[in-house]
Amino acid sequence: MAKLDLQLVHVASGEILAQTLEKPRTFIGRGIGLMGRASLRPGHGMLIDPCNGIHMLFMRFPIDALFLDRFDRVRKVYRRVPPWYGVVWLVWGAHKVVELPAGSLDPYGLPEVAAPPYRRAVLDALLDLLLPPRCGGCGRLGILYCDGCRRRTRRLEEPICRRCGAEVEHARSGCGCRARLRRLTRLRSAAAYEGPLEKALHRFKYEGRRPLARPLALLLAERLAVDGIAAEAITWVPLHERRRRSRGYNQAELLGRELARLCRLPVVGGLVRLRDTPPQVGLDRLRRQTNVAGAFRWQGPELARRSLLVVDDVATTGATLESCAGALKAAGAGAVIGFTVARVKL
Ligand SMILES: [Zn+2]
Ligand SMILES: [Zn+2]
Repeated sequence: MAKLDLQLVHVASGEILAQTLEKPRTFIGRGIGLMGRASLRPGHGMLIDPCNGIHMLFMRFPIDALFLDRFDRVRKVYRRVPPWYGVVWLVWGAHKVVELPAGSLDPYGLPEVAAPPYRRAVLDALLDLLLPPRCGGCGRLGILYCDGCRRRTRRLEEPICRRCGAEVEHARSGCGCRARLRRLTRLRSAAAYEGPLEKALHRFKYEGRRPLARPLALLLAERLAVDGIAAEAITWVPLHERRRRSRGYNQAELLGRELARLCRLPVVGGLVRLRDTPPQVGLDRLRRQTNVAGAFRWQGPELARRSLLVVDDVATTGATLESCAGALKAAGAGAVIGFTVARVKL
């Protein structure tokens, strides 16, 4: 066992997560890891490097575990893994594991979760084994949205229309959207509807690829941070009940809930779609507007001037979101900001 003077530093805050990391050198040492220990001092941890993507956490005391990829980026975080947990995980793309005393990761807002309930963890591990994740953009095995596709996802750039968020030629007060977007306070989209993102959104919506909600909501969260958009709660564009039942889920709701989890905002549901309006695809601007006019109603809790983000997967003219904003305002909402993963260029 080599006592290395390795430190684990949280890049965003510069704080040291662990003063000392031990690194077992032999295959058996890596396999045993912390199993022989009765406890671990605060600030101390174990670095299992390399590991082979299959992990079993089987300790006498609770730990936090970080799974890192080849470039030391965090792939998965498990907090407070209970003693003798022992579930075998397959973490795709993980090349190292750092094991720390339970609670070490609490102050750092890292983007995961307590260790899932035992039965779900076993199920997840089995599912990953049977149905390994595939990139929604290019189909690559082992990840939901790969680095290459992330790089080729074109984020919308300035100058954008302050009101509707569309890319415009010159920065100026508006793009002429004011007349048709009256009730939406603002509309923002993360990226252009093209390339790998278009493919991923299509698979997310029409091929039942629900887990894509995670990487797609991450694009929303990034945009939220870049634009400094603030709201008190998150809701989503509803599907008509008949369509939701035939699809099995509402893609906008999955995105909204995932975004809420990422940025720790409450969700509030209650928008309903009164008419099963025909798809907007292929309609011109005016028809889109009349197609969805009065199609929504709020049937949720009191909104009491709260500001809301309304999440959807794709926006074109913003007519659907404008109609939702109308229903929300009529029910007493404060500012209503439409927020979509992608924007179709008109
Ligand atoms: Zn890809
Ligand atoms: Zn505009």
